[in-house]
Amino acid sequence: LTTADLIEEHRICVCVRKRPLNKKELSMKDLDVITIPSKDVVMVHEPKQKVDLTRYLENQTFRFDYAFDDSTTNEMVYRFTARPLVETIFERGMATCFAYGQTGSGKTHTMGGDFSGKNQDCSKGIYALAARDVFLMLKKPNYKKLDLQVYATFFEIYSGKVFDLLNRKAKLRVLEDGKQQVQVVGLQEKDVKCTEEVLKLIEVGNSCRTSGQTSANAHSSRSHAVFQIILRRKGKMHGKFSLIDLAGNERGADTSSADRQTRLEGAEINKSLLALKIATISPGMTSCENTLNTLRYANRWEYT
Ligand code: ADP
Ligand code: MG
Repeated sequence: LTTADLIEEHRICVCVRKRPLNKKELSMKDLDVITIPSKDVVMVHEPKQKVDLTRYLENQTFRFDYAFDDSTTNEMVYRFTARPLVETIFERGMATCFAYGQTGSGKTHTMGGDFSGKNQDCSKGIYALAARDVFLMLKKPNYKKLDLQVYATFFEIYSGKVFDLLNRKAKLRVLEDGKQQVQVVGLQEKDVKCTEEVLKLIEVGNSCRTSGQTSANAHSSRSHAVFQIILRRKGKMHGKFSLIDLAGNERGADTSSADRQTRLEGAEINKSLLALKIATISPGMTSCENTLNTLRYANRWEYT
């Protein structure tokens, strides 16, 4: 099946989330150029100037499965995106949920959650919300009788290398087995019994991810983080949910360290994303170009 087939069959769902303007953007008097006029439409109002210097807004419209405005909580985003995939893994399926977007647009806030205390909205992210529902589902009679065990893994892909975030950043090898399945050799699978244990692992993994880095954002803008929830029955894989906080999608030239290596990494990251779509966007006028790139990329259908 091609990506187009999967979209056609609604087996791939593409949503966009707009975050609010932050303090810095507000203090710089950045304008909000994004509106969400209905639950599946995103509009970008790009300020432009004619040759005679009269100003006007160029409006562009994009359509998705869902568009979430800046008042949406993680819980709501979760309910319409990852929640149905929790069922999938209980039914022996493999599911993946990606966050794609510019650095600072809210990927980690959405996926990993926000416990910094800087934010009023100190909330669990999709990793933890999915884990919560996995533990709830385990109690349902139909699944209880299967006697499933839950495991979590958390790793990072940086510069083509894989590091285990639950094992002091051990460098891991990636191999393809005889069945063309990709295996991360030696990846630690932590046995988890409740949401609190999962939250602890997320915290451990996140601090491991950024330790020794001069800037958390500069690092995470170039690395992918993968959090997995694995269901096993008598040791055998029953279902697997991969939740992925992707590297920033901005062009190398737009990042603070616009060296050649960074640009090459950016190209590599984008190349590996051709088949995938999901997205978060910043509302500010200063991010307009990146926002349009993200929306054009993730755009679901030609809008008519
Ligand atoms: P990314 O991972 O895409 O680089 P982050 O998730 O780190 O971006 O978000 C950048 C900043 O914006 C963080 O301080 C985060 O708390 C804040 N933020 C992101 N999304 C939201 C949101 N929906 N509501 C409130 N604050 C948000
Ligand atoms: Mg991030």
